[in-house]
Amino acid sequence: MENKVLIIYTGGTIGMVQDEGGSLHPFALDRIYDAVPQLKHCSYGIDSVTLDHIIDSSNMTPSLWVDIASIIEREYDRYDGFVVLHGTDTMAYTASALSFMFKNLAKPIVLTGSQLPLGMLRSDGRENIICALEIASARMAAIPEVCIFFESHLYRGNRSTKISAENFDAFESFNYPSLAKAGISLSFRNHLFLPKPTEPLTVRKRFDTRVAILKLFPGIGPEVVGALLSTPGLQGVVIETYGSGNAPTDPWFISALEEAISRGIIILNVTQCKAGAVKMRQYEASCDMDRIGVVGAGDITLEAAITKLMYLLGNFPGDREHIRQRLGQSLRGEISL
Ligand code: ASP
Repeated sequence: MENKVLIIYTGGTIGMVQDEGGSLHPFALDRIYDAVPQLKHCSYGIDSVTLDHIIDSSNMTPSLWVDIASIIEREYDRYDGFVVLHGTDTMAYTASALSFMFKNLAKPIVLTGSQLPLGMLRSDGRENIICALEIASARMAAIPEVCIFFESHLYRGNRSTKISAENFDAFESFNYPSLAKAGISLSFRNHLFLPKPTEPLTVRKRFDTRVAILKLFPGIGPEVVGALLSTPGLQGVVIETYGSGNAPTDPWFISALEEAISRGIIILNVTQCKAGAVKMRQYEASCDMDRIGVVGAGDITLEAAITKLMYLLGNFPGDREHIRQRLGQSLRGEISL
């Protein structure tokens, strides 16, 4: 029986056209087949679904993550793999969110998009979509992960970051090697894949969006930090610190964090550096945060950190200790241990 892949089209530059004023906006999926006629001749079956509203991915929301996940869950047994066509701007967030939602995933979910619309002569979309489909349909290598394929590389989704608004090479995975490379042939690095699951798939679909990101900079003051931490209903904060997880040691700063933690707010320490990890207590400048209960997030990306926090708060509400423990552990290969 031939392999089958389901394309889920969400929008993004890959499927955009220019209006008379020159701005880009999304168009319907059937035009993608006109732009990539090779898709009609591949050796596997392709079906497609389009989200109710196709979007620029700047409009992505957790409820659309749930819609995408629900389509995959509903069709899981009928397809060998899934390709999600998605705008690049928030692709790393969606890939991270999906990775947490699917526990014991046994089939590939490959997100891809492009920097230039498919309809343009020099578009990078054709290669990206064809390679993503080849990977999603490859039963031999069935990668049990949510991934991003972009410009010759397959990355673990929750390790990826958009690094360029200009180059075709728009994504990078700084803390984990790419899972496959597309040259003359597709070379898979099977030893880097997550292990095949032995338990059945479970899909958890709740996200708690009562979270915030606090990015440090020299000169940040008590008013800004206080205003953010006193946001009504706030449940969790990702704090983007310096280097290996360092922050000011000023008493006002540590007290503000401590007071928030005493109100049950979870604070997760992520580094502003693209590569490398938070190592609590490596410098004196992280000892106080460790003492008051800030959680170190290792070498996680910001995109994976904020989606992991929303996912854990949404699915294990009220169990602060469980959430704190899970934040320090790898759920889907998002941190190195
Ligand atoms: N703004 C677009 C989006 O994320 C950019 C892209 O697709 O590359 O939908």
